[in-house]
Amino acid sequence: MRFLPVFLDLKAGPVVLIGAGELLRAKLRVLAAAGARLRVHAIDGNHDFGLGEAAGIDIATGDPMTADLAGVIAIVCAGAGDVGVAMSARAKSLGLPVNVMDDLEHSSFIFPAIVDRGDVVVAVGTGGTSPVVARRVREKIEALLPARIGELAEFIGGFRKSINERIAEFPLRRRFWERVIDGPIGAAVLAGRKSEADEALKAISDPSTFARADKPEGSVALVGAGPGDPDLLTIKALRALQDADIVFHDELVSGEILDRIRRDTTRVAVGRRVGKPGIGQDAINTRMIEAAQSGQRVVRLKGGDPFVFGRGGEEVEALRAAGIAYTIIPGITAGLGGAADFEVPLTYRHEATRITFLTAHKARDAENVDWSTLTDTKMTVVVYMGMTAAPAIRAGLFAAGRSPETPVGVFARVTRPDAQGAIGTLRDLPELVRQTHGGPAILIIGDVVRHAGSLRRETPKQILSDLLDAAE
Ligand code: SAH
Repeated sequence: MRFLPVFLDLKAGPVVLIGAGELLRAKLRVLAAAGARLRVHAIDGNHDFGLGEAAGIDIATGDPMTADLAGVIAIVCAGAGDVGVAMSARAKSLGLPVNVMDDLEHSSFIFPAIVDRGDVVVAVGTGGTSPVVARRVREKIEALLPARIGELAEFIGGFRKSINERIAEFPLRRRFWERVIDGPIGAAVLAGRKSEADEALKAISDPSTFARADKPEGSVALVGAGPGDPDLLTIKALRALQDADIVFHDELVSGEILDRIRRDTTRVAVGRRVGKPGIGQDAINTRMIEAAQSGQRVVRLKGGDPFVFGRGGEEVEALRAAGIAYTIIPGITAGLGGAADFEVPLTYRHEATRITFLTAHKARDAENVDWSTLTDTKMTVVVYMGMTAAPAIRAGLFAAGRSPETPVGVFARVTRPDAQGAIGTLRDLPELVRQTHGGPAILIIGDVVRHAGSLRRETPKQILSDLLDAAE
């Protein structure tokens, strides 16, 4: 490491900025946004910086080589040519930090890529070797840091003095803040519920006892895993998977998504899958609650969205009844994943103005559906768990007066590499289901299916079998 990241106090004095053109203006924007007091030497004489009458910008007209640098905290040259090199020598002789843009040799400090979340600032550097790599690293950090992490730092800052006075020993103080940050109070700040967090922290009557409690407070996150493509996980879901001590997951959740769980996290498959009983909903609830009560951070990972045919409602009720702290992180439901994957717009001007998501698990359930509510031809119907009930669904929709010519799509394993679609009319529905080689699958019924894109999915397996067919 040649360059150590340190944080410069911009209140300590002005920064002198020297240069010309767009390079100068770009640096000026960065420094002005950070709140620097700037003294700008525009050596091309162009003082139109595009910042309006921004406060704190002082236009210097003299020669930077002879200008008074007393009190100046740093010198930055951007697009300054030879003047930059000369200024670098002058700065060094005065012991002033200097940066000459894109010129390591003449710089005593360099600008990192930064992630700026208020009081929380992350600097990423590559020792000047590759700003592009630094930017990529920054993007990754941007995606992982909670949006309100700066607010969390500010929140803690507000209580620091009083807690310092009430807990004398440093290690215990640290434990106190760890418990606050990792528990419901930290979660409330990150969720934007600052006054709730404020009250909860003020309600801690004895901070030392709170810090000493050997059991951390457990919690449960009900997380939607989406339909299969791991890149469709939300940033929040990914973060929950990374933080979890134990994950209870549905059988339906893809292996690629399970790969995103931290390696040392315990995984428990609790999956019900059609035709295969799981451990049962009551047992799932009990195990989740027990894990949280023992202080673990629990993730209940469910296919698609937890609140769409996922029994998330029952799990939340059980958690509430047990007094466990919980959060709900939505996921992309299979119907939306399938629509995007096969390019079926679920609504379309004049053609489809309503959407119904329904489940027809077994023929028996399909008989329980009130088909008379589905007569509207401008309604797109998305059916979950509808493979085996396909004939009953067809009969029900016919009874509701839907035309046998109504377009229908059967979309299996959507957003996964082996996704498969079959498109036809309501008349052919059972045949379309037969054409898809296994679920899970959703059915989309309605005129909008006409707009579907290509059904062809070039999976490695298909490509291979096509090649073999061609060779025969
Ligand atoms: N909570 C889930 C639904 C669970 S019910 C969600 O929001 O998606 C299970 C049903 O979801 C399956 O029978 C099937 O109809 C549908 N499903 C789940 N994953 C799917 C996928 N990758 N492709 C197609 N359908 C899927």
